[in-house]
Amino acid sequence: MTLKVYADNAATTRVSDEVLEAMYPYFSIHYGNPSSLYSLGREAKIAIEKAREQAAALIGAEPNEIIFNSGGSEADNTCIGVYARFVAPKKGKHVISTKIEHHAVLHTLDALKKDGFEVTLLDVDEYGLVSPEALKKAIRSDTSVVSVMFANNEIGTIEPIAELAKITREGGAVFHTDAVQAVGHVAIDVKEMGIDMLSLSAHKLYGPKGTGAMYIRRGLYCPPLIHGGGQENKRRAGTENLAGIVGLGKACEIAGAGLEKEKERVTALRNRLVEGVLKIPYTRLTGHPTQRLPGNASFCIEAIEGESLILMLDMFGIAASTGSACSTGSLDPSHVLMAIGLPHEIAHGSLRFTLGHYSTDEDVDYILEKLPQVVDRLRAMSPVWDDYIK
Ligand SMILES: *Cc1c(COP(=O)(O)O)cnc(C)c1O
Repeated sequence: MTLKVYADNAATTRVSDEVLEAMYPYFSIHYGNPSSLYSLGREAKIAIEKAREQAAALIGAEPNEIIFNSGGSEADNTCIGVYARFVAPKKGKHVISTKIEHHAVLHTLDALKKDGFEVTLLDVDEYGLVSPEALKKAIRSDTSVVSVMFANNEIGTIEPIAELAKITREGGAVFHTDAVQAVGHVAIDVKEMGIDMLSLSAHKLYGPKGTGAMYIRRGLYCPPLIHGGGQENKRRAGTENLAGIVGLGKACEIAGAGLEKEKERVTALRNRLVEGVLKIPYTRLTGHPTQRLPGNASFCIEAIEGESLILMLDMFGIAASTGSACSTGSLDPSHVLMAIGLPHEIAHGSLRFTLGHYSTDEDVDYILEKLPQVVDRLRAMSPVWDDYIK
């Protein structure tokens, strides 16, 4: 079946036409190395600096606080892993994060643990919210970094970032947020919110894959993860991904200009989808009912395996996810669903639709037409269903 409805925008987004158009000349005409001194190189450098302004403007940063890199995973590895190792001799070896982070954060923390760091992972409540009080209790004099994601990629819950950042600052630590799911979708002002470091990724906001950035507050030094040339003000070596960076800049500009309107439109679509899906018996919404990403509609469909749902929806041309693209192929239930306290058997039926810029009313209609059929069919085939509803 050909793709009819793409509802997996949390996994990746299509590159928008405007972004692609902005990128083209930087492969073919303006292909210079930004470090070269002749015009072709200088033009490339100017394009990168324009993209830096565009990215900075979207999150309320100064351009020189933006460092381009290969994406969200690299940003998380740098802001948490590299930074924590760098300050450990003065500050100590304690790091705080949460149980619902992306694997780019959790596995960076695992690597720190192997190097003798102590990691505290904060619990979340049934909606996936981190408690500021719990952070206050966990923070110590040897805590160097607190990292809490801006919004969760599986269940969409938006964390109380400003409050958490304030507590972190009062506790004498540095606050990092993985904002990969949030940037370009909800308003972010790093200054107002007191964020010290932030990770973002182009392919989650209609830009290209393999390009991203980190915001590192002026005055805060984080050594490079990649050593080599002096690119990015000596904070990330390697010849710049010129076209990718231009695409990221353009994507940021477009997202910033349309943010509020888009948020309203996508939220309305999502609300209609949620309402419709919850009409199917034995389904529940996961994540916070209102404090969530505009496009995220995530559920547990009881007595069904998420994987079978995905495969059968695919037969109808619907692209959805069981939650996290990174755990696809693994049989363990999602760590996020475990952290919000769902029992295993219910977490196995997780289903996530993430709507975005290209989602339409017709998409929602189509999902709401096909999903109940898919659920009925799978439940009819299920050996446990009759017992389940007793
Ligand atoms: C996608 C994602 C990442 C990884 O970003 P890449 O650019 O794909 O490396 C990290 N964190 C979150 C929350 C994400 O959704």
